[in-house]
Amino acid sequence: NKDNVLNSPTILHHSFIGERDIPVTTYTVIVTGSSEVGKSFLTQQFTTSEYMCTYDNMTEEGDNTAVTVVLNEEESTLVFTEQTLVDDEPPCTSYNANCHVVVYSTADRSSFQSAKCFLDKLSDSEGVTQPIVLVGNKTDLVRLRSVTTNEGRKLAREYGCKFIETSACINYHLDELLVGVVTQIRLKIQREQQ
Ligand code: GDP
Repeated sequence: NKDNVLNSPTILHHSFIGERDIPVTTYTVIVTGSSEVGKSFLTQQFTTSEYMCTYDNMTEEGDNTAVTVVLNEEESTLVFTEQTLVDDEPPCTSYNANCHVVVYSTADRSSFQSAKCFLDKLSDSEGVTQPIVLVGNKTDLVRLRSVTTNEGRKLAREYGCKFIETSACINYHLDELLVGVVTQIRLKIQREQQ
């Protein structure tokens, strides 16, 4: 049943690393946006984060990138899957994830429109209650900026998302994004357990 699938984001597994007996929870994150907004670059750049787990390097399995982070003495592995939005074509992957990261480029107005359309689709899909983080990337391209911070913030507020502006190029707000994703996921799980 479609609704059931949408209602039950996957926690892939709990595993234990080495002799330290620290439970690691794995979460799935779908990164969606138009082509060339920086989805791959953002994910790759997470390896430079100070929150990266030092003994567990980023791994790539097929199209997925996994990153283990340590936040508040708790480890979480995030498995990122990318989804490229193509005009007039419905997004193809399932909505089943622990978090959605929706990316546009602050230097590309049409990518902002595509992000808005995708948020619309997500909010129309009954049962999708996962946290969403809206990301305006490429803020280093100051002169080419065509989407203001306020527009991004307003869109995020409309759809109840967390909002972050980043630059994968100059490593701006990448830690905030990584921490934001983990925090949103943990808050959601805490709320469900109450
Ligand atoms: P994707 O198609 O969304 O996965 O985009 P990519 O990650 O392949 O990036 C597309 C292009 O944009 C590449 O040439 C990147 O180097 C560039 N890019 C990605 N992020 C940034 C950024 O924050 N600033 C700038 N100036 N370029 C970026």
